[in-house]
Amino acid sequence: MSDPFHSFHLDNKVAIITGASSGIGAQTAKLFSSVGATVIAAARRLDRLEKLAEEVPNVIPIQCDVTSDEDCEKLVQSTIEQCNRVDILINNAGISDPIAALDEELSEFRRVIQIDLISCFYLSQLCARSMKEQQTGGAIVNVASVHGFVGSAPNNQPGYSAAKGGLVNLTRELALEWARYNIRVNAIAPGYVATELTDDMIAGESGRKWIERNTPMRRPGNVEELNGAMLLLSSDAGSYITGETIAVDGGWLAR
Ligand code: NDP
Repeated sequence: MSDPFHSFHLDNKVAIITGASSGIGAQTAKLFSSVGATVIAAARRLDRLEKLAEEVPNVIPIQCDVTSDEDCEKLVQSTIEQCNRVDILINNAGISDPIAALDEELSEFRRVIQIDLISCFYLSQLCARSMKEQQTGGAIVNVASVHGFVGSAPNNQPGYSAAKGGLVNLTRELALEWARYNIRVNAIAPGYVATELTDDMIAGESGRKWIERNTPMRRPGNVEELNGAMLLLSSDAGSYITGETIAVDGGWLAR
């Protein structure tokens, strides 16, 4: 039998990762680099991306605000110019709106939908056009959330829950439309994971205890615990998986 781990390698693959300046995105950049990929690391904080590129081989930083259509277009264009191709897109950039629905400004709700959902659609479309033209297929992984399946209150975040729910079903829709081009579209749905996004919540006693009480495994996850699902969905190891969302949540959605 040939080495079953071989299909997890990303040798010669080019991967765009949004939100690579911290948390899950930075971890995924390290992961992909370690298995042979060239990583296009995108986010607004260029200094962070440059530091990542100094520490991790084969990382190319590109400043990109995903709320700007022009930035998204430039990101994909300059990936093709520098690397001749794009094989993997990780739609990871995301923000939350920790406010009760009755108090939220419409502009804030719109902003979250723009970053957490609309930019994922646009970048997927731009990359899928290139992947189709290359005739080599590709893999898109959307970073959704358990709150794409269940509401978040009393940890209120109305725009976030709406966007992540949309992202889970967008994953299915794009998977169906692009399966014929061998472009696989999947998602992961993390539970609560320690990053800058959840720093305040985990640092505060009541937030941490709420997570511990509501997570069957009784603890938040850490970013390394997303590696397995991320790599499975991005590599040839997942070559027959599409339209799927894998929960990595310490049991949150099993309740
Ligand atoms: P972080 O806050 O550490 O990372 C968020 C990333 O998104 C940063 O790199 C940030 O970069 C980037 N980002 C935010 N706004 C923009 C923008 N307008 N344009 C480009 N990049 C942007 O949080 P996480 O690592 O936790 O979050 C990553 C993803 O994981 C998000 O989609 C989040 O919803 C999801 N997730 C996280 C969970 C958790 O518990 N941590 C649970 C479930 C899902 P910069 O500011 O430099 O632009």
